[in-house]
Amino acid sequence: MKKISVVVPVYNEQDNLHEFYKRITAVMIATDYDYNLIFVDDGSKDGSALILNQLVEKDTHVEAYLLSRNYGHQMALTCGLDNADGDAVITMDGDLQHPPELLPKLISLWEHGSEIVMTKRLATEDAGFLKNITSSVYYKLINILSKVEITPGGSDFRLMDKKTVEAFRLYRERARFIRGMVSTLGFNVSVVEFVAPPRFAGHSKFNLHKMLHFALDGITAFSNLPLRWAFYLGLFFGLCSLLLLGHVFYVKFISDDAVPGWATTTVSVLFLGGIQLVGIGILGEYIGRIFEEIKHRPLYLVSKHLKK
Ligand code: UDP
Ligand code: MG
Repeated sequence: MKKISVVVPVYNEQDNLHEFYKRITAVMIATDYDYNLIFVDDGSKDGSALILNQLVEKDTHVEAYLLSRNYGHQMALTCGLDNADGDAVITMDGDLQHPPELLPKLISLWEHGSEIVMTKRLATEDAGFLKNITSSVYYKLINILSKVEITPGGSDFRLMDKKTVEAFRLYRERARFIRGMVSTLGFNVSVVEFVAPPRFAGHSKFNLHKMLHFALDGITAFSNLPLRWAFYLGLFFGLCSLLLLGHVFYVKFISDDAVPGWATTTVSVLFLGGIQLVGIGILGEYIGRIFEEIKHRPLYLVSKHLKK
């Protein structure tokens, strides 16, 4: 019998876990597959770990990895993908924004030959105007910047065949934008659309800072274009300053109104200084990321593996 692994990152989801477990179990039992539910507790500070412990005790389908601290959604997912042993692995959020009832559809596409089944959020019922706008602008930007195609509204709700999971495990970079990484894998991909319902309980763990960091990871990990822009910008302003030099010579040798002109000087110095700082900032961003990668630290540490 084929086995399906369901990987669920969990961070402070104590009010969602029972309901999630109930709904996912109902769905999985109705299919004729063996399955396991692999929860990855990402350093929760509420009762999540305790609840996971109870679930592991009462149901042999459940296992849990408790990470040593909070590593973020993408690392928690990575831990789950590293340890999932199913013939297909499904990753989904534990807050019921990824409806368990969609699983049979993903599985049937897999049975019909898809090696990766992505999902695409058509809308999130409770997402604010701002999140929708920034998200759509961001996906436009990242698709212009990078060569891999990343589906707008992509989410980390997807099914991966065992061999694509094995391929994914070879990618050990720290700056993880998993939906982009999966897009670079290739394989036979299909897409299922869904509307994400509001969270069952609690609130989103992503604040502006985390979102921004995640967004930057996505861009710098998939594109060197910002570096090239800095170069072109430098080139452009280099040329401009040549023109300005021409003007300076003109004022000095041909016309008579020298000296006044501190304004042009100040403006151009400030402006060029600004451009240089932008260039250095972009360089710094990439160098910082090289530094992070080169340390080769483990991506996450597991403090406990709960399994019966
Ligand atoms: N999550 C996690 N670590 C974190 C933040 C979130 O494992 O540092 C989990 C969280 O428990 C949930 C999933 O990742 O199962 C998605 O998080 P959330 O619902 O907050 O994100 P959103 O749906 O708002 O994008
Ligand atoms: Mg959510």
